[in-house]
Amino acid sequence: MQNGILTVSYLFSSIMFIMSLGGLSRHETARKGNLYGIIGFVVAITATLVMNTNLHGSMGLLGGTIIVGGIIGYVLAKRVGMTSMPQLVAVLHSFVGLAAVLVGMSTYLGTNGQLSGADKIIHDVETYIGVLIGAVTFTGSIVAFGKLHEIIRSKPLMLPGRHLLNLVVVIICLVLAVMFATTHDVSMGMTLLLIMTALAFFIGWHMVMAIGGADMPVVVSMLNSYSGWAAAATGFLLANDLLIVTGALVGSSGAILSYIMCKAMNRSFVSVILGGFGTDTGTATAKTSEGPVGTVTATTAEDVAAMLKEARQVVIVPGYGMAVAQAQHPVKEITDILRKAGVTVRFAIHPVAGRLPGHMNVLLAEANVPYDIVLEMDEINHDLPETDVVLILGANDIVNPGALDDPSSPIYGMPVLEVWKAKQVVVSKRGMATGYSGVDNPLFYKPNTLMLFGDAKKSVDAVLSGLKS
Ligand code: NDP
Repeated sequence: MQNGILTVSYLFSSIMFIMSLGGLSRHETARKGNLYGIIGFVVAITATLVMNTNLHGSMGLLGGTIIVGGIIGYVLAKRVGMTSMPQLVAVLHSFVGLAAVLVGMSTYLGTNGQLSGADKIIHDVETYIGVLIGAVTFTGSIVAFGKLHEIIRSKPLMLPGRHLLNLVVVIICLVLAVMFATTHDVSMGMTLLLIMTALAFFIGWHMVMAIGGADMPVVVSMLNSYSGWAAAATGFLLANDLLIVTGALVGSSGAILSYIMCKAMNRSFVSVILGGFGTDTGTATAKTSEGPVGTVTATTAEDVAAMLKEARQVVIVPGYGMAVAQAQHPVKEITDILRKAGVTVRFAIHPVAGRLPGHMNVLLAEANVPYDIVLEMDEINHDLPETDVVLILGANDIVNPGALDDPSSPIYGMPVLEVWKAKQVVVSKRGMATGYSGVDNPLFYKPNTLMLFGDAKKSVDAVLSGLKS
């Protein structure tokens, strides 16, 4: 009876999680998707605690842990700024990885040589894989956190003979796996598991350290996927069907997202893993130019306001700087004023804009920008030559023409928003700094580009005042 209720609850939660993913795939239904996810988790945790009688003795400890963890999570999520969201996600992935390592080790010690034959081998292989994926996810996510938080440089670390080094470590892990699955001595098995964990920590650290700035979107979604597989492996160890289903959902959706990101950046998954994109040293072609040369032309907010008033077609390109400056609300006001005056205003979203998949969509949705004027790169690129003014707000890498026409550019090959084809381009940023990938941008030196220097929020507020006056 109890098992039946647990199974039905888990089935219900699984359906909620699937509906949650479905809801999260579109702006209009994202809030509902989130709610489905919350309901799924509440049902899953409650059913697990109530129906597993062997947990009842530790209810105080479990309840206390859930309450303390819940409060920490709530406070952190409330306090974290939108621009730090990617770091938070990376840290959360690292927790899943560490949990998989600890659960794997404790179940191995818990079974304490009780299994034999095929059962033992299957259980040991599950343990080994779970701990391995968990350990790679743990250190990989910590490095991703450091790179996103800019406490670790985003340029890839290129150790000499790094591919050979990785290969040797992987081969050692395979040898250890065979030894682990065949030994009947628990303390020997534990030693092998600990050695492999240390090596897997190294693989995770090295893999993400070797990945260049521009490839970070793929890394974030890849670690998301790994954390799902680590959870699924834990589900096998604990014989928990819901954890297997949930892990598989996260693992496969993260893998699909990695594929979408790779496609958006015109990169193969293997070349991302091998690292080096977004640097001078990581590309096959040597950098020949010393960066863009020429003069930049500065403009003022009043001139930009006048330009926008005259325009018929306006495209706004938001980037990471808009998120930092929190300029989305005055941007929405500008959009309203222009649309009322009969100007066609649309937003162009690059798949890797900002620091998180869907980052710009979230900001624009928060400011209540209508969904139907927010277009993907592929939907808007062909309209840019007919556009009177393109207003770029704190974006850089995603509008870099070098990605298309300069084979020596480290980001050559990445599809970008072809804003330079518009009649007039205005770039709002604070100075001449490069974007996340550390690559100079020739767009700023084009004859049809004007630079609106200053914090994006202040600039947009000033343009708004100009439009109102
Ligand atoms: P970029 O990081 O390329 O450029 C952002 C620009 O914003 C900077 O050049 C900076 O110039 C400017 N800026 C910063 N703060 C402000 C401010 N307060 N006001 C005005 N401007 C500001 O951003 P993009 O969105 O163009 O590209 C995203 C990059 O991030 C890509 O390289 C992508 O690969 C990477 N990435 C994306 C992830 C994702 O999932 N979307 C995850 C991880 C990395 P200045 O200092 O001169 O103002």
